[in-house]
Amino acid sequence: MKNIKQSWAEPYKIKMVELLKMTTPAQRKKAMQDAGYNTFLLKSEDVYIDLLTDSGTSAMSDRQWAGMMLGDEAYAGSRNFYHLEQVVQDVYGYKYLIPTHQGRGAENILSKILIKKGDIIPGNMYFTTTRLHQELAGGKFEDIIIDEAHDSESEFPFKGNVDLDKLERLIKKHGAAKIPYVSMATSVNMAGGQPISMKNLKALRAMTKKHGIRVIHDMTRVAENAYFIQQREKGYENKTIKEIVHEINSYTDGATMSAKKDALVNIGGFLAVNDWDIFEEARNMVVVYEGLHTYGGLAGRDMEAMAIGIGESVSDEHIKARVGQVIYLGEKMLEYDVPIVKPIGGHGIFVDAKKFLPHIPQDNYPAQTLAAEIYLDSGVRTMERGVVSAGRKANGENYYPKLELVRFTIPRRVYTQAHMDVIAESAGRVYQRRAKIKGMKMVYEPKYLRFFQAQFEKLK
Ligand SMILES: *Cc1c(COP(=O)(O)O)cnc(C)c1O
Repeated sequence: MKNIKQSWAEPYKIKMVELLKMTTPAQRKKAMQDAGYNTFLLKSEDVYIDLLTDSGTSAMSDRQWAGMMLGDEAYAGSRNFYHLEQVVQDVYGYKYLIPTHQGRGAENILSKILIKKGDIIPGNMYFTTTRLHQELAGGKFEDIIIDEAHDSESEFPFKGNVDLDKLERLIKKHGAAKIPYVSMATSVNMAGGQPISMKNLKALRAMTKKHGIRVIHDMTRVAENAYFIQQREKGYENKTIKEIVHEINSYTDGATMSAKKDALVNIGGFLAVNDWDIFEEARNMVVVYEGLHTYGGLAGRDMEAMAIGIGESVSDEHIKARVGQVIYLGEKMLEYDVPIVKPIGGHGIFVDAKKFLPHIPQDNYPAQTLAAEIYLDSGVRTMERGVVSAGRKANGENYYPKLELVRFTIPRRVYTQAHMDVIAESAGRVYQRRAKIKGMKMVYEPKYLRFFQAQFEKLK
């Protein structure tokens, strides 16, 4: 008798579909040229499968949509704010909530409150908007992630870990007074969605406590990180995602959140803190940048959808299917020999463009080039996470990140397993003709966060 494997499937079914436009190679060629070979500048209409980002692109549940109808659009004191506040306290365990229009709104306010000119902010790898707000507030970001995170070959299970020796050296060099907080992210985005372990986080907490340094949590993908802890860390195999999320947060003093990721909404974010003084200042500052402290740039219905989405995001069944789909895609790509970052992360597959296109130097943007080629092949939209995203230092020099990646980010609850097959096959086809692919030059560069709007031309 044949041994039948035990499959699993999504813990939801599809109630409404969105039709997609299919394009021809000639249409894609024109669209890519018009977009200056920057996938951010493509019209979404010209995209078949959109893996640009998992940010704000997830599918809401029928319950979240029902919640939208319960929006209390009062200027002040909306009941949806109080619902959200209660969920943030219950699920995440933080005391005080300031809603913001999205994650960077929270980063702006937090950076302005905690950072003084000349301060050092150590963190487990930079994130674009996070570091920019730290710098705009007068601080300097210092990377203290473990070396394995910069090595796409390393299969270390917790590549998001903080290197405590690096932190210790920074404290010795600058003094704890110059370090307002450690910027700790779960599921480190720029490292490929790699998790931090609970053990490392506990040790970080112990070290920072000794020096009176806060830990601020970028909790954008905390549930995905919790899943990896549950799967990989001893002592957590029988804990629920909700319990693990709660424990992670308990070792931190506050958090910034882009609810457009884990929390299954199309817009929204927040700042959450345990310290009344910071809360008081943030509550005052949010009025300047976002809106009154009971809406922070969001409609009541947005806050309701977020409150419900947070609850769904920490369900064990949900997160198993979410990360399971990402792992399915990664394993398919490996079958076609496509070089990807391992272990496979939580929110997408990161293809190693340096290995994929070893003949293209970093100054000719291998990851940017590869993202353009994938679109030309299949209409699948991905994005660059390499030298273009890294941008320039304050003195104008380019950052040259070790990792030169193309991110295939998977929206939550949006695409099917058949879509994953199409994506992997496209990456495999482009890989087969890689030797013929040439790099690009940048012909337009904006001043801030250049990856969003830069334009390129193909080298002849
Ligand atoms: C998306 C993201 C942010 C910024 O959030 P926005 O909602 O896009 O402003 C911050 N940190 C991480 C890790 C993110 O992925």
